[in-house]
Amino acid sequence: MASNPLQGAQFVLAAHRINQLPEDTGAEVAFAGRSNAGKSSALNALTGQKSLARTSKTPGRTQQMVAFNLPPARDEAEAGPRRLIDLPGYGYAKVPEALRAHWREEIDAYLKQRTSLRGVVLIMDIRHPLKDFDRMMLDFCEATGLACHVLLTKADKLSRNQAGQALQAMRKSLQALRPDGFSAQVFSSSDLTGVDTAREVVRNWLVQPRG
Ligand code: GDP
Repeated sequence: MASNPLQGAQFVLAAHRINQLPEDTGAEVAFAGRSNAGKSSALNALTGQKSLARTSKTPGRTQQMVAFNLPPARDEAEAGPRRLIDLPGYGYAKVPEALRAHWREEIDAYLKQRTSLRGVVLIMDIRHPLKDFDRMMLDFCEATGLACHVLLTKADKLSRNQAGQALQAMRKSLQALRPDGFSAQVFSSSDLTGVDTAREVVRNWLVQPRG
């Protein structure tokens, strides 16, 4: 396996509003997904840390935006801090409408305003893709011109053939929404399918200037 470019991620802070996030310098990549889609597990798999993001058995827990710092890149010209941001997800469990509205507004503002943001990794359960939350995220990314990479996770729950079909269908949907800037792959936090590919996408974003 290739060396992990996301190794050494460290918790910095949890925020309820975007103005509580770390200073908007350097480069960061955001992770989003409906609750229970498998976002915490994906973050753990990508960073190679078993409990970086809490893997929850209680969907609908109080949610926040969580910032993780990556150690400075030695072999890359890009200076400045690099971060991963875990965005709150909802949609699976009952979340009060006022809280949904809060996060909808905060996420929208975050995607529009955050200068250091290079792209969004959108995590979907491969068996339940493109729910309302996912469509909202894709709409926000489309509106702001942000890159979005979809991880169709829990692929270990499907046969290789079924997973391939789900990927084809997703690519078709993304193509219809935006011909470039959106991409997708199959993923599994359980058997680590697609982990190297996803790490490369994130690493490439982190070394790019904002396009
Ligand atoms: P989050 O709410 O999006 O952060 O989702 P979690 O990462 O907490 O995962 C929700 C549930 O799905 C947990 O029971 C995980 O163990 C399970 N899960 C997450 N990723 C995978 C995966 O790739 N394969 C399988 N089989 N289960 C997964």
